[in-house]
Amino acid sequence: MSGLFAAAFLRQIGWIADVFERSPVELVGRGAGITTHPELLEALEKSGAGTRELGIEVTKRITIDRAGRVIGERPLPQILTSWDRLQRLLRSTIEPAHYHLGYTFADVEQNASAGVRVRFAEGHVAEGDLLVGGDGIRSGVRAQLAPEVQPIYAGYYIWRGAPDEMDLAPDTLRSIFPYFTFFLPPRQQVIGYPISGFDNDLRPGRRRYNFIWYRVADPQTLRKMCIDEEGHQHEFSVPPPLIRSDLIAQMRAEAEHIMPAAFLDCLRNIKRPFFTPIYDFSSPRIVFRRTALVGDAASSARPHMGFGVAKAGGDAQALAQALAGHDDIDVALTRYNAVRQPIGERIVRHGRLLGTHLGVDLKTDEDQKMCKLLQDHRAMMDWIAVPNFLGSQR
Ligand SMILES: Cc1cc2nc3c(=O)[nH]c(=O)nc-3n(C[C@H](O)[C@H](O)[C@H](O)COP(=O)(O)OP(=O)(O)OC[C@H]3O[C@@H](n4cnc5c(N)ncnc54)[C@H](O)[C@@H]3O)c2cc1C
Repeated sequence: MSGLFAAAFLRQIGWIADVFERSPVELVGRGAGITTHPELLEALEKSGAGTRELGIEVTKRITIDRAGRVIGERPLPQILTSWDRLQRLLRSTIEPAHYHLGYTFADVEQNASAGVRVRFAEGHVAEGDLLVGGDGIRSGVRAQLAPEVQPIYAGYYIWRGAPDEMDLAPDTLRSIFPYFTFFLPPRQQVIGYPISGFDNDLRPGRRRYNFIWYRVADPQTLRKMCIDEEGHQHEFSVPPPLIRSDLIAQMRAEAEHIMPAAFLDCLRNIKRPFFTPIYDFSSPRIVFRRTALVGDAASSARPHMGFGVAKAGGDAQALAQALAGHDDIDVALTRYNAVRQPIGERIVRHGRLLGTHLGVDLKTDEDQKMCKLLQDHRAMMDWIAVPNFLGSQR
């Protein structure tokens, strides 16, 4: 997302921008849901991607208990979209000739006057005035320029998936499907919301329900979870098709004793649930001579705010604004660093506070206070993934 945003905004200020993507085939999002914020909608409009058929608008949030009773609700209109839809909108802003699949960043040589020379693992070379590293939380660009900056495991992970609307029971469709729904057992969090179906199908009956279940696991437990079906140890996470079936079976069995019927129904209808360990970090610098980091490569917050794509759009927009406002590229990049690095750091700090609900590693009085506050489901509905974080920080 950040690479596509960057290319779109740079093109608007007269630059020629090429996007190099490691994947040899068009990317697909496995049905991941994305909550939206005004900042994201603004970035989509301004980048030229637009917001047409962006997603599903829910009007309220509810919290249910184990018996499925609604114990709290809040009116809160919010558009829920999907990774696939955003990718498709942004992808359409780039001419095919400037989008290159199967290019894996290997290294960059740079000097201020001559710009950058990038080598790709497949043997290609590209030259330009500026390299924008939008290659995600495990950025290879950042690994070369700031190898000491490493994502930090939060002490918890999520099980995820998105069952098809048509497979869900009538009770599930009535009780939770139309809403942004919370279920909050001790030191866990289950969240669900409707998203579009296959190929951005927004028609009733064809949609999906985004399911997320936060669970605590110490680093040793996570390490064991990261041994795949073939016995291979992965360092950070396991590609979904390789997640061990015994782990999935154990998770399903535990859910039977924890979840209300509607969320159980969702889980039973997820054909291949997968887990994602939660990491975060913020790089102290996001500019290295003629290389600028954007999106998750620059900083990545825990997903409780649902703000990552909004931040990616904001980074890209700020980068283009800085370049448009200064004739000297190096001065512009210094400006970009000064404007966006502190914002990334603030977002990461806020994500950590929201994660205190899970009771892991509570270091400060503020952590303790926030953890206590978020035990109340009403506070949870008021704080998690709410719009206007940057505009109306409490
Ligand atoms: C569980 C979860 C839920 C989330 N929910 C939300 C939400 O509700 N709302 C929201 O806004 N955000 C959410 N996010 C965050 C959001 O997904 C990220 O912030 C966003 O995807 C960051 O975009 P990016 O382009 O910077 O990085 P990525 O999406 O990681 O993209 C990086 C790209 O770089 C490519 N790449 C990597 N290495 C190389 C290389 N060496 N050479 C070439 N290409 C390479 C990758 O293939 C990929 O296409 C969530 C994240 C998680 C984990």
